[in-house]
Amino acid sequence: MTLRIQLKAIYRATLGTHTGNEGWIGVDPSGKAYHVIVPVDTQIARGVMACNRPTDGTPFGGYSNWIYFRCQPYDSDVEDETLRIEQAKKNLSSILIKLSQYGIDAQPGYDQPVTSQASINTQILAKIKRIFCTRCHRSWIHPHEVLKDPDLWLLNYRADVDDFNNGVYVFQHACGGKVEVPVWVFIKPQVKTKSLAGLQACPGLCYYETSLKPCKATCEGSTYRTVAYKMTSRHARRVDSTGPDKNETGGKYNPVG
Ligand SMILES: [Zn+2]
Repeated sequence: MTLRIQLKAIYRATLGTHTGNEGWIGVDPSGKAYHVIVPVDTQIARGVMACNRPTDGTPFGGYSNWIYFRCQPYDSDVEDETLRIEQAKKNLSSILIKLSQYGIDAQPGYDQPVTSQASINTQILAKIKRIFCTRCHRSWIHPHEVLKDPDLWLLNYRADVDDFNNGVYVFQHACGGKVEVPVWVFIKPQVKTKSLAGLQACPGLCYYETSLKPCKATCEGSTYRTVAYKMTSRHARRVDSTGPDKNETGGKYNPVG
C-alpha cells in the first residue's frame, strides 16, 4: 500500500523562521495515515529532538508510536509564499526518503504540484472578493450576505480531514445552482484541539458530506460541524420568520398600490 502525502499538508507544516514555530508530520508506522501538527513552539520541538526519541510519541499532541518528521522552516523575516512552497517541496522529498528508510512506501499526493489549493483559493478570493453561484453567476461579497440570503441554504459540508481549514461549505441557491464557500471564510484555523479524524473517538460524520450534524468529539473538526449546524438551524428559523404575520421584510413582499 502506498501512502500519498499531499504537498498542501507539508505546506501547512512549513512555516517561516519569523514565526518562532514549526510544523511536524506524524506517520502511522503501518504507513496507512499521516497527520499534521502545527504550530509547534520551536523550543519544545528542540527538546523533542534532543531526546532523540522520534518514535516514542511527542509532548506536543502526537500519537504514541507514530513516527514524527520535522518540516524545516523556510528562512525569512516575513511571510513569503514562494519561499514557503519551495521549502515545502524540499520537506516533502526529504520525508518521502526518510519514510522509505522506515520501509514505508510513500509518494507525493495527487494535489497540485506547484502551489497549494489553500493558497490558490486565498489568491482568487482576495482578487475577486466575491462568492459566485455556479449556475446563475449571482455573487455575494461578504460571507454574512451568504448567511443572510433567504435564497441560499447549506446543502453539504465537505470536510477535509487532512486539513480542516481546507473544507468547503456547499450552499444550494434557489436557482438550482451551488455556491461553494471555503470554511476559512467563516472560521479561523483551529489549532488548540487535535484532530481525532479516523480514530476510535471519531463518530465519522466528516466522511459524509451530506451530514450536517454537530459532532460531540473533542476534535479540531467539531467547530466546523457546529458552525454548519448553526447555519442550518439559522435557515430553519428564517423560513419560519417569512410567514405572513411578519413585517420584517418591509414592503418587499407586499403588493404595491
Ligand atoms: Zn444561482
